[in-house]
Amino acid sequence: MTDLPELTHVIAGRPDDDAGPTLPVFDPSTGTTVADIPNASAETVDAAVAAATAALAAWSELTPSQRAGRMMDLADCLEENLDRIVELETLDCGKPLQNAREESKFAIDLIRFCAGAGRCMEGKAAQEYAAGKTSFVRREPLGVVAGITPWNYPVVMLAYKLAPALAAGNTLVVKPAEQTPLSTAFIAARAQETLPAGVVNLVLGDGPTTGTAMVRHPDVALVTLTGETETGKLVAREAAATLKRVVLELGGKSPVVVFDDADMDLTARGVSHGAFYNSGQDCTAASRVLAAAGVYDEVVDRLSASASGIRLGGPADAADMGPLVSSEQQDRVSGFIERAGDRGSTVRSSSEVPGSGYFIAPTVISDVGANDEIVQSEVFGPVVSVQRFNTDAEAVELANSTRYGLGASVWTRNVGRAMDVSRRLAVGAVWVNCHDVVTPEMPHGGVRASGYGKDLSMYSIEDMTHVKHVMVSHER
Ligand code: NAD
Repeated sequence: MTDLPELTHVIAGRPDDDAGPTLPVFDPSTGTTVADIPNASAETVDAAVAAATAALAAWSELTPSQRAGRMMDLADCLEENLDRIVELETLDCGKPLQNAREESKFAIDLIRFCAGAGRCMEGKAAQEYAAGKTSFVRREPLGVVAGITPWNYPVVMLAYKLAPALAAGNTLVVKPAEQTPLSTAFIAARAQETLPAGVVNLVLGDGPTTGTAMVRHPDVALVTLTGETETGKLVAREAAATLKRVVLELGGKSPVVVFDDADMDLTARGVSHGAFYNSGQDCTAASRVLAAAGVYDEVVDRLSASASGIRLGGPADAADMGPLVSSEQQDRVSGFIERAGDRGSTVRSSSEVPGSGYFIAPTVISDVGANDEIVQSEVFGPVVSVQRFNTDAEAVELANSTRYGLGASVWTRNVGRAMDVSRRLAVGAVWVNCHDVVTPEMPHGGVRASGYGKDLSMYSIEDMTHVKHVMVSHER
């Protein structure tokens, strides 16, 4: 039996319980209830924002080196507790232990990266743009940042919000997805051991109650959300009332363009991993393959073969792929697969599915049309569609034909073709001969219905600042 962390809000460095209604948390690999969490009211959110506001002056006035030191202490503390974080993450999500370990290490590395990068923020060079007056630019923290995270990568998504916010001198109120609060609660408690009280505050709860209160709060300067496109629209609308900034990392339907000169071994391996990693619950999952007519059959066969070789199971089973996060998500994904079959597409899926838990077998769907639901909608499950194209121009047109614009990959041995197609894809990231590889140094974020603003990299830290012009007259 896993030892659970204290599942309370954390405000001004202390656990905080509100005696309101609770929400159940399930183990997705068995379907059993493992815990209940509180659902933070607007009053609780207000207390958390007040604590973050009170901590702001002292935190933002530390030198970047001092802030980096405290963030490094947090990263070291998380590394010492890595096994515990991995255990909670797998209980929360049902994902394989090895995946949770690699993801948690990535999150710790990101905190270290931002700690250092916060020391090298740049402004424009000082100049006398008006005669006798020197201008320069300062990057200032925004204030209290509200971070709202999804359930697919709880630890990584927490780091995406926490690390740049703190590095830029802001303080944080964070809310994990109600389905997966365990690892975030544990990490928030560790943050109290290493950071000044009030710099990181945790509120537990759902979107409509707790999330809305965070977005509406007048003392929150910026909301950074990773979630569905419809949630992003709601958040942007609510945030407009107080003119607060928003960073929105939303849904995706990444095109994977396979040309007939691609290395097929590399492509089959890379696309299969990109489509089925984390049970396809990934905003940049390789969910929409576009294959040149000459390799279409081979792509369908190879993806189907790798899908049927994937072993499903819970964290204890040393499986390749875990369950989906919830029964709602399992029903939703099954619905997409059934409707695609009903409209005449070919559905291939042959892995053995465990009896309990929210599992869906990895599935390849071919014979699809450009406007089909399975091609246009984000499924967020282990499902990949394969479409045929005849020319490079058609490939680009099909790739850009959904409302999303998060990621894409191009598979070819021809460098010129890779460069040309990468330029013409309307997305935030293009991978050539690989898919969905993220690093702390490089930005992640989309365009169109995938949102705006950046996670990761120096750009994410800059998104959490405002630019102030200071002009100094030389008159004496
Ligand atoms: P979701 O939108 O349902 O929930 C995300 C978070 O928003 C949760 O914490 C939820 O409680 C909160 N929320 C919901 N309604 C809210 C509201 N009205 N106001 C404030 N907060 C609210 O998303 P999900 O189902 O948890 O996650 C899956 C989605 O996340 C997918 O669409 C996926 O593409 C997206 N995602 C995007 C990225 C990216 O970087 N672009 C990364 C991972 C996941």
